[in-house]
Amino acid sequence: MTTTDTPAQWTAARVDELRLATRAFIREEVIPRELAPGAYIDEELRALLQAKAREAGVFAPQVARAFGGLGLPIEHWSTVFQEAGYSPLGPLALNCMAPDEGNMHMLAEIATPQQQEAYLRPLAAGDTRSCFGMSEPHPGAGSDPSALRTTAVRDGDGWRISGEKRFSSGAIGAGFAIVMAMTVEAGSSAATMFLVPMDAPGVRVGDALHTMDRAIIGGHPHVHFDDVRVPGDAVLGAVGQGFRYAQVRLGPARLTHCMRWLGLARRAHDIALDRAAARELFGSRIDALGIAQGLLADSVIDIETSDAIIARTAALLATDSRAGTALSSVAKVHCSEAIVRIVDRSMQLVGGDGVSEHLPLASFFAEVRPFRIYDGANETQRWAIARRAAKARAREREAGEPARDELRRWEGGDA
Ligand SMILES: Cc1cc2nc3c(=O)[nH]c(=O)nc-3n(C[C@H](O)[C@H](O)[C@H](O)COP(=O)(O)OP(=O)(O)OC[C@H]3O[C@@H](n4cnc5c(N)ncnc54)[C@H](O)[C@@H]3O)c2cc1C
Repeated sequence: MTTTDTPAQWTAARVDELRLATRAFIREEVIPRELAPGAYIDEELRALLQAKAREAGVFAPQVARAFGGLGLPIEHWSTVFQEAGYSPLGPLALNCMAPDEGNMHMLAEIATPQQQEAYLRPLAAGDTRSCFGMSEPHPGAGSDPSALRTTAVRDGDGWRISGEKRFSSGAIGAGFAIVMAMTVEAGSSAATMFLVPMDAPGVRVGDALHTMDRAIIGGHPHVHFDDVRVPGDAVLGAVGQGFRYAQVRLGPARLTHCMRWLGLARRAHDIALDRAAARELFGSRIDALGIAQGLLADSVIDIETSDAIIARTAALLATDSRAGTALSSVAKVHCSEAIVRIVDRSMQLVGGDGVSEHLPLASFFAEVRPFRIYDGANETQRWAIARRAAKARAREREAGEPARDELRRWEGGDA
């Protein structure tokens, strides 16, 4: 594994210095370059913003120093990612935007040294972009990954991949894809991840899927793999371990979405606070009217609880990745819903401007709403959370935890 620094190498003062540098960079260089509502980001803007981020010393904070990053350990990502997320363009500028950030993490954890040189190094430097191909058209993989239909079959010392992906964020203009495919070995099938250059013969970017969000470069198109031949060393990690690696990627990846989007929710809340302080209605400032205060207070509560669950999950991911990945489901559900509520309340508090193009709030809403669907739809997460809770309690009972009086009564025992 290619590690970042240890937490001890990052004193509180040093983290705060990076936070403040990111904050200043976002306000001075990024927010003034934000796009008009509905516009898409292009490669020219990406290159400019990333060059500015390098100059400002805030580029690739989460990447190991060996690959040109700042080496920030995961426990401190939220502080910096929230500052970056204050603008929808900030994470792209810092090269900590999805899907590249999640792919960098997985390459650092799983790829061979040769694969890291070929794929992680240029990705971390911003010299290329990537996409992640898991979701497929019906009846293929979506919420249920076991429906995976893309296949990879052995061909001499390599593989041939066939299938169709959709919602492959960033695919237009990406240099490579990490593709999940079913492989059959010794009669049993399992999922395997492959590193596939986007210019390999048989790779074709298909129709764009126009979703409501815009802060993604390269869209969310379909990608076709028409009998694509890749060499044996295109396998990422081990054959048959794809679903396990997906969890390696998804635990931190869904948490970093919480971090970035919480930064954007803070911006929406600041806009609402500023307006509520500036406008008088019925002889009083909006922020002195009780019902409006209730909206503002609820947003503060959503911000603080989201911040707390992110910090707890990041700390756990650093020490116990299995438990951290489990908690990241809880964080994802809580934050994705809290963030939508914060942006929605902020739109409400500024009145008609909230849903107009005079303010960016409606476009912020369009950025954060899809997060309740991707990285595991919230219903899938709740299902998984409940199953884990039931299993954990069953283990406690099996380990001799005494049945509670209420349960004994219900079972017909002595009261
Ligand atoms: C903006 C965006 C970006 C994306 N980027 C990527 C990407 O880069 N790579 C990639 O591979 N995929 C990506 N996706 C796809 C995303 O991961 C899927 O949309 C998601 O997994 C849901 O799959 P689906 O759309 O096929 O919905 P379905 O699987 O058809 O699910 C539909 C609905 O069923 C309900 N449901 C699901 N599970 C349960 C359950 N256990 N109990 C009850 N109800 C349930 C939920 O309400 C869910 O929304 C992206 C999606 C979006 C919107």
